[in-house]
Amino acid sequence: MARTLRRPEELIAAGLAEPAALPALRQVAERYAIALTPTVRARITAPDDPVARQYLPDPAELLTLPHEREDPTADRAFSPIKGVVHRYPDRALLLPLLACPVYCRFCFRRERVGPGGGLLSEAELAAALDWFAATPAVREAILTGGDPLMLSPRRLTQILDRLEGMAHIARLRIHSRVPVADPTRITEPMLAALTRRKPLYLCVHVNHAQEFGPEAAAALAALHRAGVVLLGQSVLLAGVNDSEEALQDLFEAMLAHRIKPYYLHALDPAPGTARFAVPDRRARALLAGLRGRISGLAWPTLVREAPGGAGKKPIGPVWELPSP
Ligand SMILES: *Cc1c(COP(=O)(O)O)cnc(C)c1O
Ligand code: SF4
Repeated sequence: MARTLRRPEELIAAGLAEPAALPALRQVAERYAIALTPTVRARITAPDDPVARQYLPDPAELLTLPHEREDPTADRAFSPIKGVVHRYPDRALLLPLLACPVYCRFCFRRERVGPGGGLLSEAELAAALDWFAATPAVREAILTGGDPLMLSPRRLTQILDRLEGMAHIARLRIHSRVPVADPTRITEPMLAALTRRKPLYLCVHVNHAQEFGPEAAAALAALHRAGVVLLGQSVLLAGVNDSEEALQDLFEAMLAHRIKPYYLHALDPAPGTARFAVPDRRARALLAGLRGRISGLAWPTLVREAPGGAGKKPIGPVWELPSP
């Protein structure tokens, strides 16, 4: 049974990094978590392909540029209680843990996510859920992290039962990499945990069509059968998906797996991520180039986090048409 690769030495042994890079990669690994699941490993064809680039550490991560921020979305300023982020009146985030199946090199929470990190204690989780119960303006509970599908099905069931039982909570949402990056976690007990009376939207993070393999296809089909509504979120990343062809393939692959593309995010300026940046102008041009070539179903909203925690804003493209 193949294991998740976590150490630079393991990446070198797997032929995914050069032995000469070991000292620099060890420094990166001290600062930012690394993980490539066997599923992700199987999708990689070369160390510089669009899947590998998302997960393989790079010495460039040791360099923080002046505009890069440790908390680029200002989550901290909008946290009423540990594990909750409340920026918009009608919806709030619950972060039950900060572990992920894989660690993306461009992650905007990269200073906080990691295998040991951020699991709320029983008391902290209870207090966070009490906050939701006491905040009737919040109509949508959004589980994110880290990756909420790293929780045990039993723990996840407890959390979702409690939220679903609140009269003011109209819908549940989960943001996750698991269905594509670690689909073996989508077991029968996990599907049972996700089968809900109220609508459950699962927003699946995928950035390249090559990430979808046969296990992911089976997991997504099972989630759909369980009544989960599947949405897609992607980050626009230089060297991964910054071409019209790559984006078209990605969005069409999502539709093939019953995923509706929801957001295409511009990169948040987290430390050591500059190699992935795509200028807004280029981002708009890429999407504009796809208009008319892809189904309207395949079209995501291009968004960027406004500085200082003002939230996600659509950044185009727009067409100025003559008034009728
Ligand atoms: C992204 C985000 C949401 C969800 O925003 P939508 O536009 O509804 O997807 C909610 N709360 C916070 C703090 C967020 O960062
Ligand atoms: S799965 Fe999400 S939270 Fe985890 S490292 Fe990737 S982008 Fe960050």
